[in-house]
Amino acid sequence: MDCLFCKILAGEIPAEVVYEDDQVLAFRDINPQAPFHCLIIPRKHIATLNDIADEDQALVGHMIQAAGTIARQQGFEQDGYRTVFNCNTHGGQTVYHIHLHLLGGKPMGWPPYQDTLKTPVA
Ligand code: AMP
Ligand code: ZN
Repeated sequence: MDCLFCKILAGEIPAEVVYEDDQVLAFRDINPQAPFHCLIIPRKHIATLNDIADEDQALVGHMIQAAGTIARQQGFEQDGYRTVFNCNTHGGQTVYHIHLHLLGGKPMGWPPYQDTLKTPVA
């Protein structure tokens, strides 16, 4: 399968791993948007949030739990952090293997988008 994140899982493309277990791998984003920015991915290939099956519920829950584990390891669990799943074009998804962005190390601000995006598509 021609999937960038499956290639990282297979060790064919290097990544700076920050956490791994039998279900997920987490590595630093190559284009960080915060002092700390990693991507938590399942070892199972799932293309988008729309493709999560009933049998994947525990796996996706584990991805979210891993965010807390990594935040603790990095020391910003009490200050807080941002987690983001992007889905398809409007969500800004560019890699079609689900991944949870974990961003931390400074206040993230809210809302997480520009005001111009509030205008609906004509
Ligand atoms: P998304 O836009 O939500 O699909 O997020 C994809 C993320 O993958 C982006 O933040 C990219 O910077 C990141 N990315 C792309 N290629 C790599 C890579 N080889 N190693 C680490 N992160 C990557
Ligand atoms: Zn994949």
